[in-house]
Order: sequence, then structure tokens, then C-alpha cells
Amino acid sequence: MSARDGADRIAGFTESVIREMTRLADTHGAVNLAQGFPDFPAPDELKAAAIEAIAADRNQYSITWGARDLRAAVAARYRQDGWPELDPESEITITCGSTEAMASAFLALVDRGSEVILFEPLYENYGPDAILAESSVRAVTLHPPDWRFDPDELRAAVTPRTRAIILNTPHNPTGKVFDAEELATIARLCVEHDLLAFTDEIYERITYDGASHRFLALQPGMGQRTVTISALSKTYSVTGWRVGWAIAAPPLTDALRKVHDFLSVAAPTPLQAAGVVALGLPESFYERVRAEYRERRDRIMATLRAAAFDAAPPRGAYYVMADISRHRDGLGLADDVAFCRALAVEHGVAAVPGSSFFSHPEPGAHLARFAFAKRLDTIDAAGERLLTLGRRLGLAR
Ligand code: GLN
Repeated sequence: MSARDGADRIAGFTESVIREMTRLADTHGAVNLAQGFPDFPAPDELKAAAIEAIAADRNQYSITWGARDLRAAVAARYRQDGWPELDPESEITITCGSTEAMASAFLALVDRGSEVILFEPLYENYGPDAILAESSVRAVTLHPPDWRFDPDELRAAVTPRTRAIILNTPHNPTGKVFDAEELATIARLCVEHDLLAFTDEIYERITYDGASHRFLALQPGMGQRTVTISALSKTYSVTGWRVGWAIAAPPLTDALRKVHDFLSVAAPTPLQAAGVVALGLPESFYERVRAEYRERRDRIMATLRAAAFDAAPPRGAYYVMADISRHRDGLGLADDVAFCRALAVEHGVAAVPGSSFFSHPEPGAHLARFAFAKRLDTIDAAGERLLTLGRRLGLAR
């Protein structure tokens, strides 16, 4: 390897398919249902708070672990959600989004050569996190149509080298919300084998049809061994602000903070100030968020149905995994990647190929993920194009 190549550890990294599809959408003027970010405005209260903080010169580093008032606001928020009192001094760290929180958890708590267990399909970041931590992954399948895991398969994935289980609920890309029984199964295994758990709960406020988000950390025996991760990004429509947090018992927090300090020093100070306002919003704000997302979800489900894409409605988060096999075959394309490229370049809609959420391409070759954190008119614009395609292929009327 020459000095100008990347380090060995990143040899297996490929460009994020999600962001590649966003680029294709931008280049070809496609409606972007690929990358999961809102195309509608962030709440006015938050924008005003950020502007005010900048004007008031809250522009220098915050405390590395996060501004005191934001850590206190996080503790208060979780208290309202049924958590025991958290100590902001020793149990809460503010990070640059949940992405940095998860990377810090891996780097701080997973030893080289150890293993982590992931559920698959999975969001694209956790594999690279494991590689950065020089560890390896074991994937446990979430089986369609309801994306449940087989407890025996989970048990079989544990080896003497297993260090942690990664749980993302509500789940990207399937929209699954792990239920109480599933969380109890994961918790029992963690306790039995002395494993850690890192959770990505960034879609915690976005659930449908009475599904309720539950915290793995509140399962018996999990308080001391869970790193609970979330962020402002999705709930408050500020994915570009990069403000998140990691909640963990003091020894885990201690380790995580050492990495966080040297990775990023601190999250953006004025945006942390706005985060205090965000976390203080009343319950009615979250009800509105849920109602608006339900409308978007129902609209995309109707859109996909009309264009002859089969899909089960998600119970949480803001993605639908749809079956693209009939359209793919109708266009004479080999797989989901070829289909999504053609969909963006020739048919004007960007989605993410299903295979990018699996370690092997086969189980995703008939799937594509459509993100619906979008204005209704954006979803409708995509809908017209999908319908045109469906009609052209004789699949839709
Ligand atoms: N979480 C968002 C998604 O899944 C954005 C991800 C990204 O940019 N990699 O689409």
C-alpha cells in the first residue's frame, strides 16, 4: 500500500449507498425518498433559540460532556418517560449526533478481536463502527414479514468473544418496533453472558398504530450494561445540527467520554442551547409529530399500493421497505441496485436498494427503502412518477 492510499482498517469501506442515491437524485432531478431527512422546516422555537444563542455569543466550546443545562434537560426528559433519576454529571454525554455516540461506544467499549451482534437488515453505520473498533460482527436475521428474530438464532450468535448487542428500535429500515417480549429475551441473554448493549433509539418518538417505544435499559439487569443513544435529529427535524446523547452507567460513561473528547471535543454549543428548548417542549408537540408522520406514512402507503409496490406499513420510524421485484423484472434489471439506479436516473424517484441493509445482497435483492420524512406534495410528486412506471409496466391501472 502506498502512503497515499487509505489505512488498512478502512479497506473494506464503500461509499454510503444512501448518500450515493441522494447524489443521483440531485444530479438527475429525482424526488429524493432515499436519504432519511425531512424536507420540511424545523420548529420555529428551535430556530429562534439557536439564533438567540449565537447572538448571545454562546459560540465557544461547551463542556466536553455537554452543556450543563442540556444534560439536565435530557435527565428531566427521561425522568418523564419513566426512567429513574439520571445523574447528568456521570451518566449523560452530549455528542455530535447519535452517529458519534455509537462510534464512541464502539471505540471505548469494544476490544480489538471481540464480536458484536447485530440484527439484520440493519442501518449502514454499525458495520463500519465495528471495523473501526477492529472487532467483527455476527448478524441475526429479522425475518419478514413482521421482522421478528428467532431467540435460538440470537442465542447461537453468542460466542466467548461476544462483547455487545446492538439494538435499533424503532428500526431503520423496516419500521419494526421491538416489543416487550423481544426486549426481555435480549436482556436475559445480555445478563446471562455479561454482554453490553448499545441502542440506537433515534426514532423513539415516531411510532404508529399504538405501537410504543420501549427502552432496553429499563429491562431487569440492563441499567448497568446499556448505552442508550438518541439525538435531536429526527424528533425535532434537525438532522444537520448533529446534537445527540449517550446515557450509560458511570463506568461506561467514563470510558465513552474519553473517546468523545478526542473525537469531537464537544457538540455545537449554540445548538445545544436550542436543544434545551427542544427537550422542554410540551407533550402536545410530540402528539403533533406523531400525527403528521402518520399522515405521511398513510400517504406513502397509498402511493406505493397504487403503483403496485407491495409493502407492509411500518409501525415506527419513517421508512417503508417495499417489494420491487415485479417492477425490477418488468424493466429487465438484475437486482435492487440496478433498479434503484434506473428509478432515480430514468424515472425520477430515488430510493435505497434493499441489499445495502444486509451483509449479503440476496435477501435485499427484491426490496427498496422509501423514506417518507417528506412534505405531502413531495410524496405526491414521487407518487405520480411511480404510478407512471407502474402503468408503463402494466402493473398499475
Ligand atoms: N439515517 C438516515 C437514513 O437512514 C441518514 C443516513 C445517512 O446519511 N447515512 O437515511
